[in-house]
Amino acid sequence: MGIEQLVFDVEKVRQEFPILNTKVRGNKRLVYFDNAATTQRPRRVIETVKEFYERYNSNVHRGAHWLSDLATKMYEDARKTVKEFLNARSEREIVFVRGTTEGINLIATSFSRGLLKEGDEIIVTEMEHHSNIVPWQLVAQQTGAKLKVIPINDRGELVLEKLKDLITERTKLISVVHVSNSLGTINPVKEIIELAHQAGIPVVVDGAQAVAHIPVDVQALDCDFYVFSGHKIYGPTGIGVVYGKEKWLDKMPPYQGGGDMIKEVTFEKTTYNELPYKFEAGTPNIAGAIGLAEALKWFKQFDINAVHEHENELVKYATELLKQIGGIRIIGEANNKTAVVSFIADGVHPHDIGTGLDMEGVAIRTGHHCTQPVMCHFGIMATARASFAIYNTKEEVEIFVSALKKVLKFFRQ
Ligand code: PLP
Repeated sequence: MGIEQLVFDVEKVRQEFPILNTKVRGNKRLVYFDNAATTQRPRRVIETVKEFYERYNSNVHRGAHWLSDLATKMYEDARKTVKEFLNARSEREIVFVRGTTEGINLIATSFSRGLLKEGDEIIVTEMEHHSNIVPWQLVAQQTGAKLKVIPINDRGELVLEKLKDLITERTKLISVVHVSNSLGTINPVKEIIELAHQAGIPVVVDGAQAVAHIPVDVQALDCDFYVFSGHKIYGPTGIGVVYGKEKWLDKMPPYQGGGDMIKEVTFEKTTYNELPYKFEAGTPNIAGAIGLAEALKWFKQFDINAVHEHENELVKYATELLKQIGGIRIIGEANNKTAVVSFIADGVHPHDIGTGLDMEGVAIRTGHHCTQPVMCHFGIMATARASFAIYNTKEEVEIFVSALKKVLKFFRQ
């Protein structure tokens, strides 16, 4: 790959995001470092959604008229775009959902109906987002299955050697986050999948924090399920994707019942629609799916390795500058990490850091980041988290660090 392909113009990219020009807190320049919570949308995505409502809005798969045919084609084209983005084998493997949370609930609920029974075991990790813990706890309660946990070390990496001990003949599924939202750790999911497959165990990958930062190819990973949210990759909220291998989706019963997911309904018996419609009950988020496809097309114009490299530079730079300030502890120092810097500061609560930074125009997130087991591991209640995206710059990192110094000085004096 030539060096030209690895370089992109951040300033040009920034111009595509109208919100980045917003002035906050008394005419201060906005520094948006809350990208792990949600990314901003480029103009192209905003325009696409607007245009859909202005010119094409109609329901899908009910093709009695011109507009409905058009909306259906756009919706199904969006599915094709997602299929290509993930390098899935077929569109039958792509199910539109509301987001990662709904996606994992879909898999957990559907998988538990028929494929889980009392005494079966599900393995997750200590660094999961609550949305990859609680759905499994719910199905475990209903079926009598048990949850087991791969621990993390103090750098915030998985202790992978433990996985071999955790796998038994009762293990029915492993669900693991690709990139941790509170630590930034990139997990060796390919290795986990290989190990799991040796024992015939399917693997779910939570890709919420991965798709916008590292290359994802579901065939190369050979994962059985992959889930992500549109709003974390420059697309709309309320739309997300479950990729599932056909062999599993075929075996799994529907998640929800309703319109579109059926072939034939009588009071005696209902037959279900083919994949992926079996899992898409009711009117979907049509504009959301079309907006997501536009976001993916927009994002694909950049070399993902260049994006990753750029964001790594920001992580390294921020980490280096933070370490120069006294009394700062970085939470999550994995060798392989991306896009996230979580930290705590002696004597100042993360929430005060967040509020203080906000007064300076810097938006970060504070709290447990829906990963309370991670907080528990480190013996803390919360962190302050700066998370980066394609449009962030080193200059913004400097603004953030100097604002932070000001905030710490205020609270420490
Ligand atoms: N998994 C991870 C790793 C996340 O970071 C998030 C959101 O922050 C989720 C799952 C849930 O995503 P959503 O709220 O879009 O459903």
